[in-house]
Amino acid sequence: MEDLLKIAKDLGCGLKLEPFTPVGRGADEEILSQDAYFEQFMLALKLAKEMNVPLKSTYSSGFDPKCIFCAGDGEMFCVLPNGKISTCSRVTKDDDLLASTFIVGKVLDEKVEANPVQVESLRHLNVMFYDQCEDCFAKWYCMGGCHNTRLLNNGVMPENHCILEKAFLWTNLIKAVDSN
Ligand code: SF4
Ligand code: SF4
Repeated sequence: MEDLLKIAKDLGCGLKLEPFTPVGRGADEEILSQDAYFEQFMLALKLAKEMNVPLKSTYSSGFDPKCIFCAGDGEMFCVLPNGKISTCSRVTKDDDLLASTFIVGKVLDEKVEANPVQVESLRHLNVMFYDQCEDCFAKWYCMGGCHNTRLLNNGVMPENHCILEKAFLWTNLIKAVDSN
């Protein structure tokens, strides 16, 4: 993270550092533990402040309460190279495990066709409908996490996600109290 901050400084840009997602070429790679990611990110945050480089993570998004994690719930349409429409930017191929969930239509010569029933069924991807999140103090901060990750993990977010969400929220709450 420190090296990436130096590159960002040289380029004059900001940085967003996320935990590693095991997809594509990285599907079989070992994942950095959530504790190591949190620890490294907190160190990087301190350094970024000193270096004046804007640094973010999905987990450090601040207090902006919402109930939907991303527009993959049928709001977003990504047009794939084959003309099909996916509402999740991680689902880009017909043989993706979640293709039948997120590929909702196609662009034709004269019009765009989307299956309204399928789009409507994506609306349940909302923290208000998740049993796992019902009593979680971080629910309006986390918003239930990435729909794709949740669906691939039998409808629940993996524990490492929840640990990070809670750790970042708790840290931000303490900072907010301290600054007042
Ligand atoms: S991968 Fe997750 S966060 Fe990204 S678009 Fe799909 S559901 Fe949303
Ligand atoms: S941290 Fe876990 S349990 Fe809490 S809202 Fe997020 S996904 Fe749900």
